[in-house]
Amino acid sequence: MEPDRATIWPYDERGEPGPFFYSRYAHPTGAAAEERLGALEGGDALLYSSGMGAATTIILAFAQPGATIALAEGAYYGTSLLMRDLARWELELVEYDQTGTPPAADIVWVEAPANPVLTTPDWDALRAHPGLIVCDATVSTPLYLRALDEGADIALHSATKYLCGHHDALLGATVTRDPEKTARLLELRGRAGLQSSPDAAAALLRGLDSLEERMHRITATASEIARRLAAHDGVRSVRYPGFAGVISFDVDDPRAVETRTKLIVNATSLGGETSTLESRHRWEGDRIPAGLIRLSIGLEDVDAVWGDLQQALA
Ligand code: PLP
Repeated sequence: MEPDRATIWPYDERGEPGPFFYSRYAHPTGAAAEERLGALEGGDALLYSSGMGAATTIILAFAQPGATIALAEGAYYGTSLLMRDLARWELELVEYDQTGTPPAADIVWVEAPANPVLTTPDWDALRAHPGLIVCDATVSTPLYLRALDEGADIALHSATKYLCGHHDALLGATVTRDPEKTARLLELRGRAGLQSSPDAAAALLRGLDSLEERMHRITATASEIARRLAAHDGVRSVRYPGFAGVISFDVDDPRAVETRTKLIVNATSLGGETSTLESRHRWEGDRIPAGLIRLSIGLEDVDAVWGDLQQALA
């Protein structure tokens, strides 16, 4: 679908606005992509300017002054930075081990699996929690996790990653099954100006066409690479959840490894068709192991990826 980049659409013959009148509220390319993503996830999807735009909208919509947010330890660093910043507004951030029971909190924010430590949440404990449960399912995609079926109130995606899948679009998404929550998010998205761009929504439509095939290939390659890394003498430990393409592993000198790869791009982000890797210590400091490298497997041949890693680890 070619993106419709209009920002306005004319009112009807009675002088009334139709479903699309100003693109900050809704636009046809976004609506078409929301329909497709919602069907995949089993709920009502909304798109945003980025994954962090989606996170910001959730907080603006549902966090009251003085609220406590329990965030999974080792979850995406940017999410914790946003929440820490909002301490100015008396939002209290508590980080907790998501493999266990969440503490008392108004909002529990998990990541399944967490990027880059790749832990997964305890869903039984989450279902028993009275707070709003938000699950960032970016690394799983709806193909490997139906977060709303598990008990999340809101599923969140950085669609920048696997859903768009080509390192060329910045996009976020939420999916809920509660019409009141969807309406509130929609209201805040429009008011705050956190709507997606039509070009990014078109990239999502393209990405969804190949999502299943890409994820199957990426999972097959990543499973094999994780197995080979675990057997390599230069690798201290390997984390891999068994699906999708994010692997994190520890080495003695991560900077040496990340600067030696030729096929795998030394860059941030994950989920694209080209493999990427980076040392996360430069961004996250002592929050994560100093030797941790996050590798995102793309669509290249498994032996080509392994050959590149082998020479970088030598
Ligand atoms: N959630 C996860 C798990 C991520 O990895 C990222 C980005 O890396 C985000 C959210 C934020 O998404 P975006 O960069 O699209 O704002």
